[in-house]
Order: sequence, then structure tokens, then C-alpha cells
Amino acid sequence: MIVFEVFMTSSSCPTVTNWDALAKALGDMEVIRDPNQVEKLSKDYYHFSPILQAQLGDRVGDLVVRPATEAEVLTVAQVCAAARVPVTVRGAGTGNYGQCIPLAGGVVLDLSKLNQVKWVKPGVACLEAGARLAAIDRVTRESGWELRMYPSTYRTATIGGFIAGGSGGIGSITYGQLRDRGNLQALRVVTLEDSPQILELRGDAVQQVNHAYGTNGIITALEVPLAPAYSWAEVIVSFDDFIVAARFGQILGESDGLIKKLISVFAWPIPAYFVALKPYLPQGRAAVLLMIAESSLELLEDLVKELGGDITYRKSAQEASKGTMLAEFTWNHTTLHARSADPTLTYLQTAFAYDPDQEVLRHFYEHFGDEVQMHIEYVRMGGRVRPVGLQIVRYTTPERLEEIIQYHEAQGALIANPHTYILEDGGMKEVNPAQVAFKGAVDPHGLLNPGKMRGWLEQTGALVNGDA
Ligand code: FAD
Repeated sequence: MIVFEVFMTSSSCPTVTNWDALAKALGDMEVIRDPNQVEKLSKDYYHFSPILQAQLGDRVGDLVVRPATEAEVLTVAQVCAAARVPVTVRGAGTGNYGQCIPLAGGVVLDLSKLNQVKWVKPGVACLEAGARLAAIDRVTRESGWELRMYPSTYRTATIGGFIAGGSGGIGSITYGQLRDRGNLQALRVVTLEDSPQILELRGDAVQQVNHAYGTNGIITALEVPLAPAYSWAEVIVSFDDFIVAARFGQILGESDGLIKKLISVFAWPIPAYFVALKPYLPQGRAAVLLMIAESSLELLEDLVKELGGDITYRKSAQEASKGTMLAEFTWNHTTLHARSADPTLTYLQTAFAYDPDQEVLRHFYEHFGDEVQMHIEYVRMGGRVRPVGLQIVRYTTPERLEEIIQYHEAQGALIANPHTYILEDGGMKEVNPAQVAFKGAVDPHGLLNPGKMRGWLEQTGALVNGDA
């Protein structure tokens, strides 16, 4: 291949890339080579984990490219495939597990300029991958629709990054998680074969690329099912007791007639980390943060009374649209606030069993006490309302963290480990053969986000002593 020869410093070492030549081959595209900028754009929120801090702090790309069209993405793929240069895709870099940190250097492919809402039809929208979630909602709401779910990084995260690296969030109480059938309709991906191409995946075929950390295709556009848009009021309810607060969350989750988008439950001392909400979070009490349709507010009050809670904060959708969003204290923003108060704190992500009587939650709450502080998000999973934990952990040593994880799993609570950058080790704990096979077909040289997919590392013999 001609281009390949251009990029290599010809004589001595065939693995050294001529970055000047590579940048030149990208034509008019924005290329960033300033080392400080490249370092910044090589990082995400991996530092939430003390384990990942130690593993990933020194990993950076060699240059950043910002294509503005799908055709330019294809050019980047052609150039990088020819030069055998790794490509790590970046949306907004808000992932928590070092997903978009390049382990082997190469090109960081920043898709933030590919950000158009291409069309909106009743119940579905076609979006470019770098479109930010809040910006998408601003367009879809004009015709009465909104995203079914979004992470608490709503204002910054991109739809491509959410699909490739996220799991669910605000809205999951009604629509489940991103991996659930029906939450993603179609994708366009650019491949990294010798002759890169653009593929369209529709229906169940999208699962080959869904939540694969950009290891097996560069997503350029997506068709995403939407929900009817509501006016979301924000409410805080305070309870004496965490278990009663959790019962309230479960009952509200199961009350299908009450329209809601968020039910987040916090045991004390977590509310103490929410400095900006201090006046609404009484000392020593559990708190529930809610997004609820304005039309359901009156009926919510009866449930609050029944369980002995106090409404300490209430904003109409209009008021909530200005200033701080309650959602930015929930999901993984809780960890952000906790770590601002005490940077030694870290977190876990836990799928608890269906727990209608709060027996499971009571067990963990009492067993760990202050060492594992209870933060619960209610979500719909397999048709049932279930508690998901993003507990705040008082970190001491890697061994103790592992013990805590093992204890949860021995009790039947599945930990989606946020302290690993390996796709399968963090999520469902099993290799997805369809995703690995797709990678083999579209990225035969293993250039896409190398080092993150266990199934591929095992298949190619790149896994040494169990670690990437
Ligand atoms: P990035 O971080 O840039 O990328 C994420 C992964 O996707 C990387 O592996 C990257 O290589 C890959 N990728 C990005 N774009 C593409 C593309 N176009 N094609 C192929 N691969 C691509 N997550 C949740 O699920 N729910 C939450 O509520 C939530 N809350 C968070 C709160 C905080 C404070 C933080 C720091 C993180 C949170 N996250 C949450 C994680 C993260 O914000 C989300 O997953 C987010 O959607 C990632 O979007 P991004 O654009 O920043 O993606």
C-alpha cells in the first residue's frame, strides 16, 4: 500500500509512524498535536477509580483528529488502516473506566464535530454520533419527543459515546437500559479493514456494536427510539430512615400511573456531599431525588404522606430548566460530588435482586455501614422495578475493595466492576462472541481501541497472565 509506506520511517523500524506524513494525508481536517491538548483529549473520568488511576495515568494518544463528516471519518479510517495506526474514538470523554484512553497511543478520533440531528419522526430520531444529548432533546422536544434515557452527563455526553460506553440513567425507571431490546434501532459504522467501508446495522444486528467501547466499529450515525416529552418537575423527599426511603422508591417505581423519569435514593451521609442542596437535605436523614411529570405531582403527595416523608424541595419544569439540575446529583454525579468532598472515596456499581421488601438492601446497609454508603437508583429490568447501587465506598486497599466485591457477588448481587477498563470484566462478565466475531470482520488488524476487549485479546493470544 502506497500510503502505508509514506507513514513509516522507511529504514530502521517499521513500527514507527511518521506523524507529519499522517497528518498531511488527512488534508483539511482539524488535527491537534499540541502535547497538552492531546493529553487532555486522551483522558476521561478514570480517576474515579484508584485502581485505574495507577494503571492509566501515563497513557496518551499521539495526535487528535476531528473530522466533521462521515466521509472524513472514512478517510481517517483509510489512512490509519494503511499505516496500522491504532484509533480510539472519543465522544465527550466522560466515560468512567478509561474506555476512551488509548492504551497503545495512535490517533484519538474526536467526533464532537459530527453533531447534527439529521431527522426527527414521531417516536424516532436519526442523530450523528457526536451530537450532545441535551442538544438532541432541544430539537426533538419541538415536536413533542425526547430521549428515552440519558446519563447524568446529559449536558456534555454524546449519543455515540453513551451507546458505546454507557448503560442507562435518567429514564431507565421507565425504559430499562440501553442494552434492552427496543432502545436502539439502527447504526452506521465505519470499519478498519484494509479497505474501510461504511456498514448499516439494523434491528438486533446493532447489538454487535452496542456497548463495545468502540472496539469494533466507529459509529457515525444512529437511529434512536424516543419517548413522549413531559414537563418534568423536580422534587426532594426526606425520610428518617433509609429503608423507608427505599420502600418509597420501590412503590413509586411500581406505580405505573405516576409518570416519572428519576428515582434516586441516598442514605446519610451521602446527602451531606451535595453542598448546593444543603438547605433541602436535613442532617442525618435519607433523601430521595425525583423527576416527576408535573401532572403527577398532586398524586405523588399522597404516597409521600403514606410513608411519612417530607417534601423539602419542589421546582416546576419551568423553574427546573434554570440553574442546577437535580439529575446532576444522581447516577455517577453522586460519585463526583462525594469525591469533591473527600477524594479518597470511590464507588461500586451493583445490580441487586428484585427486592420488594427491601430485605436485600437492609442486609447490605447493615453489613457494611459507613464503609459502603447506599446510593440506589431504581430502574426497570426485565419488566420489574429493581434497585441498582452506585454505592460510595471508603477506599482503603485494593485487597479490601476486592473483598467487598466478592462479598456482594457471594450474596447474589452482581457487581459491574468500575475498576477495570476491560469491557467484559466490567460489565456482564462474559465474552460476547457476536461482538468478537464482528471485530474480526471489521477490524482484522486489531486497531480499534486496542487492549479493551477480552474476547479479542484471548482469540489473538495477546492476553498475558490474564491481564491485557
Ligand atoms: P466517551 O467517554 O467519549 O466514550 C465512551 C466510550 O465509547 C469509549 O470507549 C469510546 O471509545 C467509545 N465511543 C465514543 N464515541 C464513539 C463512537 N461514535 N463510535 C464508537 N465508539 C465510540 N453513564 C451512564 O450510563 N449513566 C450515567 O448516569 C452516567 N453518569 C455519569 C456521571 C459522571 C459524573 C461521569 C463522569 C460519567 C457518567 N457516566 C454515566 C459515564 C459516561 O458519562 C456516559 O457513559 C456517557 O454517555 C459517555 O459519553 P461520552 O460522549 O463522554 O463518551
